[in-house]
Amino acid sequence: MRVGECELIDKIRRRARVGAELSLGIGDDCSSIVVPPSHELLTSTDLLLEGVHFRLDWTDLHSLGIKSVAVNVSDLAAMGARPVSLHLAVGLPVDFSDRQVEQFLDGVFAGLDRYGVLLAGGDTCRSKGPLVISVTVQGFCHRNQLITRDGAGVGDELWVSGTLGDSGLALSFLQSKQPLSAFLAERHHRPEARTLLGQQLAIQGLATAMLDLSDGLSGDLRHLLKASGVGAAVELERLPLSKEFRAELQRDPGLFDLAICGGEDYELLFTAGPEMRPTLERLSVEMNLPLQRIGEITAGPELQFYTADGLSYQPQISAFDHFESTKERSRE
Ligand code: ADP
Ligand code: MG
Repeated sequence: MRVGECELIDKIRRRARVGAELSLGIGDDCSSIVVPPSHELLTSTDLLLEGVHFRLDWTDLHSLGIKSVAVNVSDLAAMGARPVSLHLAVGLPVDFSDRQVEQFLDGVFAGLDRYGVLLAGGDTCRSKGPLVISVTVQGFCHRNQLITRDGAGVGDELWVSGTLGDSGLALSFLQSKQPLSAFLAERHHRPEARTLLGQQLAIQGLATAMLDLSDGLSGDLRHLLKASGVGAAVELERLPLSKEFRAELQRDPGLFDLAICGGEDYELLFTAGPEMRPTLERLSVEMNLPLQRIGEITAGPELQFYTADGLSYQPQISAFDHFESTKERSRE
């Protein structure tokens, strides 16, 4: 470790909050967490690589800090867990200024505060290449309340929170060098993890299976179906779309597939028995967060999309290509 890195870690340590659940935080060789009785400790890691997951000419560093926390916390939300602590490992480009490091860390701390998460440790290096960010988050869930991907049963209804496709739409704007509205920038650069929803679904025992949408409805739903050994029928008219997304659809109906295939929505996709419908509708009002029923679980095993006329619909492959080419281009 170089002197500069020592000072930086000191700075981080001074800013990190401590809490009862974190019996040992930054400063020792390991952090230590006290797991409450009857709870499980859940852990998830995400790697964010410059040029693969983000581009510094598209995002500011403060937003990137917030997003690094949110996308990780979203994985805990997807299990119904409460996020508690986070480890942050960074490879900071050698030409990064103190100001740039500060902006990124400000974003990280803003993200931590948003979800009430404690920074428990990490690792800090200089990178001779791109900016590298690795975030590991840990949280608690009551032993009997964990919501996994494999619990969906035939006849369950399929639900999704928030709206779909906004982040994918923002990405397509960035690719074509169009400016983002404040709404789309927020959805793409500073997504919000649905932690409170995830916990309520777990505590109230409402969902049979759940995951968070990071790669797009179509792909992520397939993961859930595969894990549960079932199929699904999704009604396209029921997909929740934002005002902004609908306005763009008026201009170019071809954008619709972004709601099915676009990534990084970080909404929760879950299944629930039909008897849970009134409770979920009430929860949606209480949380002031749209919860939309988009289809149902079938014996499957296939995933089918239907239009209002009952016609089967295949998303255009170009939507997938679109994202593949983004990834390719951003890897250059
Ligand atoms: P070690 O040599 O034992 O890996 P380090 O010098 O890398 O220790 O880190 C010292 C302490 O600072 C450890 O508790 C580590 O978890 C913490 N730390 C290092 N980098 C970060 C970071 N980017 N964010 C939070 N904590 C960090
Ligand atoms: Mg270290």
